[in-house]
Amino acid sequence: MIPAIVYIPDGRPRPGELREVALDVLELRPAEVVLPEATVRDERGGRLFDGSTLMFDPAAGGGPLADAAADRQARAFGVTNTAFHVQRALRFASALLGHPLPHLLVRIGMHDQPRRWHGGHYRLPRPSLTDEPATLSFAGEIHLGGGDGFVPAPDGSPYFHAPAHNVAIVCHEVGHHLCRHTADFRLNRLRPPAQQTNRKVALDEGTADVFTAILLGTPDIYGWHRGAIAEWDQRRRKLQPRWTMAHFWGGRDRDPHADGTVWASACWSARERVIATGADAARFDTALLRGMESAGADTGAGAVAETGAGAGAGTGAGAVAGTGAGAGADAVAGTEAEAEGGAGAGADAGAARLTKDALNQRRQFSRLLSAITRADPELAPVVLTAMAEHGIRPGASNTALKDAARADLTGEVGR
Ligand SMILES: [Zn+2]
Repeated sequence: MIPAIVYIPDGRPRPGELREVALDVLELRPAEVVLPEATVRDERGGRLFDGSTLMFDPAAGGGPLADAAADRQARAFGVTNTAFHVQRALRFASALLGHPLPHLLVRIGMHDQPRRWHGGHYRLPRPSLTDEPATLSFAGEIHLGGGDGFVPAPDGSPYFHAPAHNVAIVCHEVGHHLCRHTADFRLNRLRPPAQQTNRKVALDEGTADVFTAILLGTPDIYGWHRGAIAEWDQRRRKLQPRWTMAHFWGGRDRDPHADGTVWASACWSARERVIATGADAARFDTALLRGMESAGADTGAGAVAETGAGAGAGTGAGAVAGTGAGAGADAVAGTEAEAEGGAGAGADAGAARLTKDALNQRRQFSRLLSAITRADPELAPVVLTAMAEHGIRPGASNTALKDAARADLTGEVGR
């Protein structure tokens, strides 16, 4: 255990409170912290750590306007803060699942050319990603930018927006790692390890957001850096009762983060409702994570076994997720075409068509909802009631739920 200073979220729209914590570290390298469950590295080089402590000052995020010493402090703090929250998030998930997730690599200071970046993303190896490093971990990695722009510090002064200082961004990306290795919305485990897909569906984004809300203890997860956006604006991505399937759009051109807010808000409402019955919040969290895991394990049809055999061959022609076929599956799955469209696929049916259907099923909110209720049947009535208020119920496609929610709205207006 190494003493460290990190931000602890306090539910308010700011970075959190600075606190001393103990971090379980296997090895401390010059710009890298190796944890039992993750490796967190600053990719910009130089020596950030030279002792046995991780007690650094956030230095208002450092950045190009700070002097070299302050920027080094801020980078060292960023690695430390990220390491702590990645460890906390992964340990929270593994405690509920009953097993660890695969080792996660986190790389800070990525994609800062040609323009600085204040965002983060989760990446799996895929050959067509020319703007990514040549080798990516098969298990998945998180990339955080070196920072860009300024957000307000608690005292109102400017704070350089380094994503490693932003606990919400870190937790959201860990949420994608959780999704990849449980619900696996894009069936990446059936694809060759070097040819996975990084396209995220709304369920992936929404689940990552509600996971973040659970870890932060607030529905206003991005309140710090999106504080200038009104709470009623969907871009704030605050989880709240107003977001229903009537606000869902679907389709490849739609930002899955915005559509995901509907799912995240419904999950948050269900969790609040569970707490209101006197149950522990962990009851809902466990049902959510175990539901994700069972939804991921449920392969549905023989189609998946067939695909799996092909994928195992790597470059074999039978690998559905291989070269062209993989891209095709992406394009098809990206549309809001529902499963019935697959019936006319005709002669080239086979594995590709079945995979399309399997991917299509995995995008449906109702499928994950059913898995959550099966994970804890006693909670089901409470969860279903809360979800229904967001227009989400079992056994209907996202499109059907959207249409029904909008018809309800029209009815309200016409009354
Ligand atoms: Zn995301």
